Amino acid sequence: MRYLGSDKGQLTGIECVRMELGEPDASGRRRPIEISGSEFVVKCDLAIVAIGSGANPLLTRSTPDPPLNKRGYVMTNPETGKTGKKGVWAGGDIVTGAATVILAMGAGRKAADSIHEYLTWGR
Ligand SMILES: Cc1cc2nc3c(=O)[nH]c(=O)nc-3n(C[C@H](O)[C@H](O)[C@H](O)COP(=O)(O)OP(=O)(O)OC[C@H]3O[C@@H](n4cnc5c(N)ncnc54)[C@H](O)[C@@H]3O)c2cc1C
Repeated sequence: MRYLGSDKGQLTGIECVRMELGEPDASGRRRPIEISGSEFVVKCDLAIVAIGSGANPLLTRSTPDPPLNKRGYVMTNPETGKTGKKGVWAGGDIVTGAATVILAMGAGRKAADSIHEYLTWGR
């Protein structure tokens, strides 16, 4: 929930809250929700943030024209890598969210084919 600090700006603890799985959403996934009133404090003087990974949002924030999906990643045609913006292709983590090198390489190869076709035939 928040970091706690001393008057001198030194970390003294982290306030956390317990979570539980909520009801399944439309996709059947149960998302974690807070248990109201379950806050507790972990005393510490050092915090290393390691809470998962995702694609760097800098690009999608600074170049918002290609349509994004509900997770904030670029939507593409999976066969070509074409985005909703003419002349722009995307692939890899910025499309799938954090995934693997092999998936990013595969998307790159498909996009390269599609870019070649676009430059050769204009389609
Ligand atoms: C800690 C960690 C361990 C991992 N281990 C594995 C593993 O063992 N095996 C595996 O398959 N995958 C692993 N992955 C996942 C893998 O690294 C990614 O899926 C893969 O690198 C995605 O490739 P990408 O080309 O989509 O993105 P990236 O490799 O992230 O490349 C994007 C590039 O774009 C650049 N960029 C961003 N914004 C701009 C901008 N505005 N202008 C110009 N350049 C920009 C970035 O600097 C970066 O070089 C791991 C990931 C992490 C974080």
